[in-house]
Amino acid sequence: MTLNDIEKSLSIFENKNYTVQHIYDSRYCNFCGACIHSCPVNAIEYLDPQIIVNENCIQCGKCLEVCSQNQKIRYSKQLVDIERNEQIKDVHPKIANVPLGSFKEIWNGFSSSRKTRNVTMAGGVTTSLLYTALSENVVDAVLIPEFTENKQNPRGRITSNPEELLQSGGSKYLPTLSLDKLNEIANNQDIDKIAITTLPCQAYVIKKMFLDTQYEKLVKKIHLVLTLFCGNGIPYRDDVELFLKAKGVIESLSEFKVIRRRERRIWRINPQDIERYVFITKDGKEVSISSSKILRCKTKPNCSTICPDYTGYFSDISIGASHISANIVVARTEKGRELVKLAIEKEFIKTKNFSKINNFLINFMGKNKRDLKRKSYHKFLKNK
Ligand code: SF4
Ligand code: SF4
Ligand code: SF4
Repeated sequence: MTLNDIEKSLSIFENKNYTVQHIYDSRYCNFCGACIHSCPVNAIEYLDPQIIVNENCIQCGKCLEVCSQNQKIRYSKQLVDIERNEQIKDVHPKIANVPLGSFKEIWNGFSSSRKTRNVTMAGGVTTSLLYTALSENVVDAVLIPEFTENKQNPRGRITSNPEELLQSGGSKYLPTLSLDKLNEIANNQDIDKIAITTLPCQAYVIKKMFLDTQYEKLVKKIHLVLTLFCGNGIPYRDDVELFLKAKGVIESLSEFKVIRRRERRIWRINPQDIERYVFITKDGKEVSISSSKILRCKTKPNCSTICPDYTGYFSDISIGASHISANIVVARTEKGRELVKLAIEKEFIKTKNFSKINNFLINFMGKNKRDLKRKSYHKFLKNK
């Protein structure tokens, strides 16, 4: 994140008449859907793939208050203190410089179910924790991401059936429109306790809602927040395909095959491995595209350029990809720890001691998302 990015984002809020339409227009919107729930006059619509504020808007400012991309609130003293968690230095000196936030316990884990592992991105822990929460009656419903047809823009789905969880397995760690379902959760008489799967920005939005009496009815029902480490900075294969389609070159390829320059087997998602993609054209030529170019293409929102949170500071449990077929599992609250322990006890997940696991991914992604631009970030914080 550069100072310029932050300043650009802050300037959005200087005009009191602004709404989330300006967030969307500036491409900082991550399509979380929270503003849709926040609007008292239903003036915000999601018209795939756009957020539209219609003429019913009374300019009350509620949508901007809740939006995670409202950097004026996001860079508050409270958040900065949370990021600079001293506990990490004592417990895990190796990750002292990684902005992991506070936590109670951290593991390396994977689902005990092969069926789950086969359909999930890493170790399947998120699916198994949700399965535990539903089957052991910790919650009576869960909000999960569900793929849309092109697998690019997951939407939220509420379910109470543990057997349906596998359908959302393999969800990418990408912006997901799911918080538009908050109205449904608040008004559904059958839901008393729900577990919500989110991205870091969405967990932050929910945290803001907990502090605002407007959302009392809703937040009373939110029992657990599970956050996936955000992979919005990673070009996935589907992004590459969309990029090539947008450029109109896909038809000229004999096969669409991503060949990575530096293929490694240990990491399934390893940004170092995807520096360049190489494709073969119909006449046998090699076409090479850098991953940074793909990241700049229009298939991704710009939010990662101003977002400091990779792991989800405001959740009960944060889950990320670890080495192949495993997850990093971070229990941040007592409730979160209880669920992980229950899943271990019921043998739905297996865990190993985190300290034995290479922390490369957190380190690398932390750097990728924020630390590489640390200087300008801290310069910004000092002036707050
Ligand atoms: S009415 Fe308020 S919450 Fe709704 S769009 Fe307008 S400013 Fe945003
Ligand atoms: S980031 Fe979320 S709350 Fe903000 S404008 Fe986009 S959908 Fe609305
Ligand atoms: S980069 Fe940040 S704002 Fe964008 S989707 Fe990820 S967590 Fe949300």
